[in-house]
Amino acid sequence: MRERLRTTVRRIPGKQVTDREVLDQVLDAALVAHVAVPAPGRLAVVPVGTARDGDRLLIHGSNASQAFRFLATGVETCTTITLLDGVVVARSQFESSMNYRSAMLFGAYRALEGEEKERGLAVLAEALMPGMTQARTPSAKELAATSVLALPLTEWSLKVSAKNEPEDASEDFDREVWGGVVPLHHSWGTPITAPGLPGDPAVPEALATWPEGRS
Ligand SMILES: Cc1cc2nc3c(=O)[nH]c(=O)nc-3n(C[C@H](O)[C@H](O)[C@H](O)COP(=O)(O)OP(=O)(O)OC[C@H]3O[C@@H](n4cnc5c(N)ncnc54)[C@H](O)[C@@H]3O)c2cc1C
Repeated sequence: MRERLRTTVRRIPGKQVTDREVLDQVLDAALVAHVAVPAPGRLAVVPVGTARDGDRLLIHGSNASQAFRFLATGVETCTTITLLDGVVVARSQFESSMNYRSAMLFGAYRALEGEEKERGLAVLAEALMPGMTQARTPSAKELAATSVLALPLTEWSLKVSAKNEPEDASEDFDREVWGGVVPLHHSWGTPITAPGLPGDPAVPEALATWPEGRS
């Protein structure tokens, strides 16, 4: 019962989407998650790079990070993913809003170890810099300095706002002021090659053609 309650959208419930495929699309489009770190006396929300690995979300960070050390204890937390798709400009400030796809994931992270950890890092690397298969994999020392945490995608909510036009209040219908939607599209710029690379390697195809929509 408790699980159902905390993932049921109450405010504008028509925006709730329960289709797991849509959740996966949102998680796959996101490179960044915001993770609540409910450490006593130093509550924080930490932005981190992220990747979906099947039925779980992966994050990684330094073992020296207070946030990662605390999350690795298995504390219950909430992670959000937000994709901003545009601004809805109404003829009143009150009715103006945003178009978005936004997920809230509840649960506890688990620290991965051994082969599972190495595999998790490979999934993260492919998501965060696709096609860089030639990049060196972590040494034993680097592995030891890194935490990889996994969150099962068992308890989540997804809210999608996709307005084609603002919902003006009737008293504003005759107001001669612009209203509408300003869409926001995300796209990658042209990769800038680091100076002095030996052998003049080409930009990996997957990086050069990274699809739009990742934000
Ligand atoms: C980019 C962006 C900008 C926003 N700007 C504003 C703003 O300026 N002002 C404002 O009031 N609201 C804004 N929202 C909506 C906001 O995130 C909340 O949905 C809203 O404030 C209602 O909160 P609540 O606690 O009353 O929700 P409730 O409906 O009571 O929340 C109940 C449950 O619904 C789910 N839920 C609620 N909100 C979300 C969400 N956004 N994504 C996924 N699951 C959710 C959670 O599981 C939550 O526990 C914005 C959302 C996004 C993504």
